[in-house]
Amino acid sequence: MTPQGLFDDALSAVKAWHAALQPEHAFCPWPDDLRYEPRAPRSLPATELIRVAPGRTTPLSTPVVEAFQALSPHLEWRLTYTQDEVGRHFLNNYGWFELAGPEGHFITHQTRITVGYWGPGLDYPRHQHRAEELYTVLSGSALFKADGVPDRILKAEDTCLHLSDQPHAMMTHDSPILTLVFWRGEGLADAPALSAA
Ligand code: ZN
Repeated sequence: MTPQGLFDDALSAVKAWHAALQPEHAFCPWPDDLRYEPRAPRSLPATELIRVAPGRTTPLSTPVVEAFQALSPHLEWRLTYTQDEVGRHFLNNYGWFELAGPEGHFITHQTRITVGYWGPGLDYPRHQHRAEELYTVLSGSALFKADGVPDRILKAEDTCLHLSDQPHAMMTHDSPILTLVFWRGEGLADAPALSAA
């Protein structure tokens, strides 16, 4: 299959996931301006990690995870954070890509859909951003922390909403985690900033 065919398959799987889960379609409508944009692949450790160790899925999330595993060598994987901010071990076990959005594999200006992978034993430091985001877990699990709400362990099909500029953090333990994140509001293309202590 061509890369574009793999991207179309992954987008269809994500669209079905978005339609099947109430918090997802309540958070943002499915965008109607999606346009495929060829992008040069960028390989990171996560390129292979999501293929060999995605963590536990559910019947609903399995097709999405499998679509991303097939797509992984064609993805423009990104890191955003520096070694000074998060350490080398974190960067060797982490990666994310923008499936759809202002700078995504599919261009849309209505929302942003990103996918993030964290290996086991990582401490994702407290950070924040202007756009609101809805985390949905595809596989694995992690402890989610956000200012003003109790800590929660999330697994496949669970969701977590972060409000505009609400500091949040995440820790993985024995399991990795693969997340699909929907974004809305101002600042869709802005990078997150680590929060003050
Ligand atoms: Zn965030």
